[in-house]
Amino acid sequence: MRKLSKFDMKLLAVAYKLTGPEGYAVLEYIAKNGETTDDTLSRVFRVKPNVIRQIIYNLDKHKLVIFRKDIDKKTNWVTFYWKINRDFFNTYIDFKRNNIIEKIRKRYDYEKNQNFFVCTQKCRRYTFDEAMEQDFKCANCGQVLSMEDNSHLVKFLERKLTAIINTQKQSSLTHRKSTR
Ligand SMILES: [Zn+2]
Repeated sequence: MRKLSKFDMKLLAVAYKLTGPEGYAVLEYIAKNGETTDDTLSRVFRVKPNVIRQIIYNLDKHKLVIFRKDIDKKTNWVTFYWKINRDFFNTYIDFKRNNIIEKIRKRYDYEKNQNFFVCTQKCRRYTFDEAMEQDFKCANCGQVLSMEDNSHLVKFLERKLTAIINTQKQSSLTHRKSTR
């Protein structure tokens, strides 16, 4: 049994937040004992295998564990060996970053592929359809709507997208180096 490193304790704190005390307890055991099977966990925690499987499923869903599969050639019985995912933070950052990229890209497409209309007071923005419905007059102040120049915003989003994709490339390069 190994002692928990500071890093593992940080990971366990996250596990507690994401999966509650059960997830925490199981992950702590796995962190201390290395590769562990469902059966062992079920014995150690004195709970039914399906209860353990539910907890493991939850840990796996949050990418807190990784597994190795072993198939018995004679019986075809599959055994899963669970390990704490010490790559969790990298996976997590990638996951978050991809979400952000997705959001910016959506906004970028939205801004780039249509025209918007505004009054001089900029009460609000209208899409083409909305502006047409209003006979190209602002619903709030009654002024005539004209096409908005959103090229600055489009360029801004484009720069943001390029920048974040570049940091992604860089971090995946350094990550590959550090895990070698
Ligand atoms: Zn207006």
